[in-house]
Amino acid sequence: RAKAEGRGSLRVFTPRMEREVVRRRDVELELKRALTTGELAVYYQPQFSNDGDVVVGFEALVRWLHPVQGLISPGEFIPIAEQSGLITELDMWVLRRVCEQARDWGDVKIAVNLSPVDFRMGNLADTVRRILHETGFPAERLEIEITENLLFGNQPEAFASLSALRNMGIRIALDDFGSGYSSLGYIRRFRVDTIKIDRSFIQNIGHTEDAAAIIDCVVRLARALAITVTAEGVETREQLRYLQSVGCHYVQGFLLAAPVPLSGVDRYLERVARGESLPVSRSQLR
Ligand code: C2E
Ligand code: MG
Ligand code: MG
Ligand code: MG
Repeated sequence: RAKAEGRGSLRVFTPRMEREVVRRRDVELELKRALTTGELAVYYQPQFSNDGDVVVGFEALVRWLHPVQGLISPGEFIPIAEQSGLITELDMWVLRRVCEQARDWGDVKIAVNLSPVDFRMGNLADTVRRILHETGFPAERLEIEITENLLFGNQPEAFASLSALRNMGIRIALDDFGSGYSSLGYIRRFRVDTIKIDRSFIQNIGHTEDAAAIIDCVVRLARALAITVTAEGVETREQLRYLQSVGCHYVQGFLLAAPVPLSGVDRYLERVARGESLPVSRSQLR
């Protein structure tokens, strides 16, 4: 059909693709609006020591409460925001929000996800520094989650930004570890503080021997490099028991707690206030 449209132009543009393009454009326009209308919110998912007792921190996860469509998951709009260039504005909005909301939560760290696209902005570290300064949030309590793609991209400006963030005292976590192309070389070169083992490995505990062996191996190597390990997507007791047995430091997942809105954070903060939380300084974490 597309072929008939003109000599030499073989266009393969199906109605389905057209709908997809329109949807993307709609989401983009709506997201631009949402950034100013209060439709975005930050949810917080607690992270625990591997016995599940101690709250060590929270991961900030953006949510879009669309007036008509309801709750839209970041898996759906983050890729669109990345392609349209809106992502950096969104990520800086999330960071500022977190710094305002979590400033007085006590001695817990908060992890914020950044996109590789953010690192193309030459002055990322300056922007982050300004937000910390303006909100009074201590750099030592901030952890930035980056993905393997960033390191794989090998952009010199990304490396510079990462070093600048580290030098400010911010911790760096490598998210979704094992799902892409990371190697231990990257971990050493970029001096990440924490790796987060991708959910896909955790979910295969008890199903494939490979997953269990890989997790065991990653924890050993990380420990040898004085890097902490967080397991993400922990859903069952069996998974938790295995992670304890191999000495994985921290766990995060629905078994322990789902992401909660700001109003749901208090019950976890009570535990922090009772001393059921770990100090955040680097030396004590290791
Ligand atoms: P991520 O950073 O790997 O975050 C973990 C995701 O796993 C979250 O999905 C979380 O809700 C979900 N999760 C947590 N525990 C479990 C579990 O036990 N089982 C299962 N099946 N899932 C679990 P969410 O919130 O939908 O976010 C998806 C992804 O979107 C995130 O993956 C992150 O890459 C991205 N994202 C979220 N917020 C932001 C943000 O503010 N900025 C950027 N750039 N990306 C974000
Ligand atoms: Mg993350
Ligand atoms: Mg992750
Ligand atoms: Mg993930």
